[in-house]
Amino acid sequence: MNHELQLITKNQFGELNYCNGCDCYSLVFSNFIFKFTVDEFETFQNYINDIPMSFWNNSEMMKNKKRRIPIHTKQKNLTLVFNGEEFTKLKALVNGVTKKDEFLSLLDIDYPLHLN
Ligand SMILES: [Zn+2]
Repeated sequence: MNHELQLITKNQFGELNYCNGCDCYSLVFSNFIFKFTVDEFETFQNYINDIPMSFWNNSEMMKNKKRRIPIHTKQKNLTLVFNGEEFTKLKALVNGVTKKDEFLSLLDIDYPLHLN
């Protein structure tokens, strides 16, 4: 079986690859490597896109923390924490965006939105 990795996205923090042989994704970010099946990757992508970055950045609880945005892992005693820039880059990688900051969810916009 051919396990050549196909590069999907890359930025200064890491890269996202897909392996045809395993039908899986591998996300390298800083000093972490995440491995996902296709289903797991989609779940992770949805999870990342639903994280309200501005909520955590403004949260009292996280006020004195350098890295304020938590990402929970399947391992209950392990939570990864990111600052705004790192989180934005992670999000760009998982969304297949190489150019910076193109995907912001509505929740990340700092002013209230009224959708009528
Ligand atoms: Zn493989």
